Amino acid sequence: MPPLTDALRYTTSCPLNYDSPLAIKAFLDAQGLGMRKKFGQNFLINPGARKALVDALDLEIGVGVWEIGPGLGAMTWSLLERGVYVKAFEIDPGFIRVLTDFFGGRRRFCLVQGDVLKTWPYAGTEGYMLGNLPYTIASRLLGTLIERNRLFKRMVVVLQRELVQRMSARPGSKDYSSFSVLCTSTYTLTPLKVLKGTSFYPVPHVDSQGIRLDLRTDVDPCAYPPCFRPLVRQLFASRRKTIKHNLYDFVVSSILTKPGVAKGKEAVHITEEVLARCGIPGNKRAEVLELEDFLALARVLEWSKSNEALAKAREC
Ligand code: SAM
Repeated sequence: MPPLTDALRYTTSCPLNYDSPLAIKAFLDAQGLGMRKKFGQNFLINPGARKALVDALDLEIGVGVWEIGPGLGAMTWSLLERGVYVKAFEIDPGFIRVLTDFFGGRRRFCLVQGDVLKTWPYAGTEGYMLGNLPYTIASRLLGTLIERNRLFKRMVVVLQRELVQRMSARPGSKDYSSFSVLCTSTYTLTPLKVLKGTSFYPVPHVDSQGIRLDLRTDVDPCAYPPCFRPLVRQLFASRRKTIKHNLYDFVVSSILTKPGVAKGKEAVHITEEVLARCGIPGNKRAEVLELEDFLALARVLEWSKSNEALAKAREC
């Protein structure tokens, strides 16, 4: 890689002036690199916002942090300055070359190359996660990590503002979804500052927002009933259907799994029994249920798999 001119450097130790679109563009040109829309590449050029995000992680020296999509390493550099271990996941081959050049010699830096959606299961575990997440993969990555119980003590991520609203939506609001339940059942969410497009280069068309996610300590998210998360997804699958209808579909597809058995009548019995035991009227819709309601349904469903009373109902 050609040596950087002093004009492109920020300080003697920081490898690039990450606050300046001009410096970034000149650097990319000099390296023969471009920005790729398909990877959701928008650099965070607002130094105050970058500092606030890293501060929000509340890190102690020596802890391990996953950084998703480091780009040219603006936040990687801040993390390393704070004395933590960084495992950075990057897909763009050009950026991988730059990151290796900037940080490859550092003992506390490790680069995982490729699509984070595929590489994360092999990457070991760290307690914290940071990322100005590419909008193309943000909800899928967060959803998968939670569903697979790959949980962090704390995460700080930048997302499209509307995704932050969906994550933190309360029952009864139009933004409340299975993703809200998934996130709030596992983490305590603290929305951070809204970031206007001018905080990024290139300027995106939508506003973004930081959000801090602290692993809940009042419950054990790893101990939720196995059917809890698939059930939540199913209950929101057809938003216009009542809980009774969606629950019936779930019983047919996930509870009555024995092949060759006529399921209709049996599924109706189980659905009605489960709703009655939870005290939830079947004509409600998932968007008004609280976390405790979903958990109650999941617990009774798990119990129904083996329980004799319901086995009798199945015989009817
Ligand atoms: N962290 C930098 C910053 O804040 O300035 C860049 C953030 S940019 C929004 C998203 C970064 O994620 C880019 O570097 C992009 O190449 C990378 N990326 C996109 N899709 C990815 C994927 N599937 N796996 C790993 N990295 C990805």
